[in-house]
Amino acid sequence: MAVAGSTGSIGTQTLDVIAAEPDRYRVVALGASGHNVDGLVGQAKALRPDVVAVADVANLDRLKAELPDCELRAGSDALASIGTEADVCVNGVVGFAGLSVTMATLEAGKRLALANKESLIAAGPVVQRARRTPGAELVPVDSEHCAVHQCLRSADPDGPRRAARIVLTASGGPFRGRSRENLADVTIDDALAHPTWKMGPKITVDSSTLMNKGLEVIEAHELFGEPAGAAGVGLRYDQIDVVVHPQSIVHSLVTFTDGATIGQLSLPDMRLPIAYALAWPDRSTVAFGPIDWAELGRLDFEPPDLVAFPCLVLAYEAGRMGETAPAWLNAANETAVAAFLDGRIPWNGIPDVLEAVLSRHDGGRADSVDAVIDADRHARALAANLLARRP
Ligand code: MG
Repeated sequence: MAVAGSTGSIGTQTLDVIAAEPDRYRVVALGASGHNVDGLVGQAKALRPDVVAVADVANLDRLKAELPDCELRAGSDALASIGTEADVCVNGVVGFAGLSVTMATLEAGKRLALANKESLIAAGPVVQRARRTPGAELVPVDSEHCAVHQCLRSADPDGPRRAARIVLTASGGPFRGRSRENLADVTIDDALAHPTWKMGPKITVDSSTLMNKGLEVIEAHELFGEPAGAAGVGLRYDQIDVVVHPQSIVHSLVTFTDGATIGQLSLPDMRLPIAYALAWPDRSTVAFGPIDWAELGRLDFEPPDLVAFPCLVLAYEAGRMGETAPAWLNAANETAVAAFLDGRIPWNGIPDVLEAVLSRHDGGRADSVDAVIDADRHARALAANLLARRP
């Protein structure tokens, strides 16, 4: 196993999963931004990987002194380089920065356990090409997509082409049930108080705006949509629905052409989708989040409020525009969320920035990694510009 983003939320939970089945897995490479040196040194001393990679060169001397037996790599290409070292690479890097890990792993013909949805969303057409590398496979770690992957698998061998709809579930975040007016002055702490999932700050803010679900709609379209991808399903955007399910027990559902719906249920615990992606096509022998049915009580479902949470609408729009539009949306979102977390814009300023950036989309094609990186850079600059001009 190689773990990129090892000191983050997905990374540390991946190491938990690996520790739960110590005879099954060996960690050969760890990669991290390098900001949490203590965390990374602690992981490397415990796991003794062959390679440790950091994106930031600032703490290289300290790492050299602490880890004399590891091959150390540093710099902008270092993280991507670990994608080729193992049978499976877990990409738990946050945001667009994870693209190089996604590309390197797939192009090396390895299995990518993908928690970094941004790379797939922003660079869809380019990643699709890399998925066709012999030996390459992409197993989603995002809980909803992992659930869909499991539902489709339940219907093998002809099931996938008989899938009629995907239903992605959303917890609704901390602001479920509140009106647009009522959300005008929510604070950073309010947005970071997620009711069911413990996650990093960026994705937690995305959950509060429903942008996370919007990005997941695009992600689902890339993974299971048209043209029929590796999973052979071929669903259109109008066949991907979102339903709010506050308990986060049903992780997503697939409805088949005969009307049957199959869902995947477990308590909210990211270690389950991580363990699934590591063990696939087998399953983990350790249970994460099994349900006590006598204790469970009820499961509720309701439609999302598209007036209070316009980010979800914008994501469908960007997804249908295709090419570099999702990259623009993602870049604008990362910029706006960072501004919100810095206290520079209010929470409800986030969709305003996204809408303004998306309305200026230049129709650029996503035909190469460079084109996607250019689109990302351009949209970030545009978003920063709009932010600077806000009253
Ligand atoms: Mg998710």
